[in-house]
Amino acid sequence: MRRRVGIVGLVVSFLYFVGASAAAAPEGQPMGVGVQKAEFGKTKDGTRVELYTLTNAHGMKAKITTYGGVITELDAPDRDGKMGDVVLGFDNLNSYLAGDPYFGALIGRVANRIAKGHFKLDGKEYAVVKNNGPNALHGGVKGFDKVIWKAEPVEAKGGVALQLSYLSPDGEEGYPGNLTVAVTYTLTDDNTLRIDYKATTDKATPVNLTNHSYFNLGGPGSGDILDEVLTIEADKYTPVDDTMIPTGELKPVKGTPYDFTKPTKIGARIDELKPDPAKDNPGGYDINYVLRMIEEKKVPQLAARVHDPKSGRVMEVYTTEPGLQFYTGNFLDGTLTGKNGVVYKKHQALCLEADHFPDSVNHPDFPSTILEPGKTYTQTTIYKFSAK
Ligand code: BGC
Repeated sequence: MRRRVGIVGLVVSFLYFVGASAAAAPEGQPMGVGVQKAEFGKTKDGTRVELYTLTNAHGMKAKITTYGGVITELDAPDRDGKMGDVVLGFDNLNSYLAGDPYFGALIGRVANRIAKGHFKLDGKEYAVVKNNGPNALHGGVKGFDKVIWKAEPVEAKGGVALQLSYLSPDGEEGYPGNLTVAVTYTLTDDNTLRIDYKATTDKATPVNLTNHSYFNLGGPGSGDILDEVLTIEADKYTPVDDTMIPTGELKPVKGTPYDFTKPTKIGARIDELKPDPAKDNPGGYDINYVLRMIEEKKVPQLAARVHDPKSGRVMEVYTTEPGLQFYTGNFLDGTLTGKNGVVYKKHQALCLEADHFPDSVNHPDFPSTILEPGKTYTQTTIYKFSAK
């Protein structure tokens, strides 16, 4: 008996040590606060993949895997203080390896689309990998969502944090320059998940990073998100052509189904965005918003708010970025089964991807995505959870 207590004690102190050393959790906090590491499996070439669990002082958890930097689980309190997962995903590595629509993943080197996978930079033509009809989407066939990131728990004020890093070699998926990327996930004690991105390069290259979490504030198994109420801090959006490339206009949302300037049920006007099977358009929201005050964005500003009247959960998105892609999981078609055997159907989640506008590299009028050597790319996006 004494021996068992001894072993349990040892394991507990080890876990506490990992947590405390990573997060410097103040004394008296509940057990488990900090960062814990577990194995998640191996890729086909035998590379080990890990799953880190970040737990804050209120018991809110974020699980993050080194495969694609994917957030596999994010627990947030409802109005009764009950924790519940609010993101779609899988509970095993093999399901991610089998392919999925970027659930929870880090997206790069360039999030969203590049028309015809082509751009010109400093007088040179570049062809990047096309993986979405005629266009390049979310970094190509093997984007940052499919690489293995190095992970290291790091100190964070008022919370716990995990830093992921990746060196994207010159020429990867067609992009110029060795790009050194660091992404820090911080779960703070005010129930906020903060994502800080940094990158440097040795040749000029476009960079546009984001996270592609699919949120359902009622829980991934609670049905569609059409009754969730959304506000977006944008008066304009970037209309697109039949292949989802911006036409270049910035159009007012006023008088269109894209108007979320006031809290509005996501389902209220979604039927106006009709499917068009001939154009592989499943209908629903899949559009970039031009966030207000783009010039002043040194610190993250409110971009969107989602409220789930059933659970009471509220998520606010703050960002330094000029754009926000709002996507209502239009391509989810019941062919993927996620955590707890839940089948993912159309509109079962929403994505709010804070980043630059699609195809910016071919639109000189859009805020630039070009990173020059000697400069540092930064972006911060914050997801803040509460309940009412
Ligand atoms: C895009 C969608 C795409 C989805 C893939 C979103 O960011 O806007 O068009 O289908 O990602 O999961």
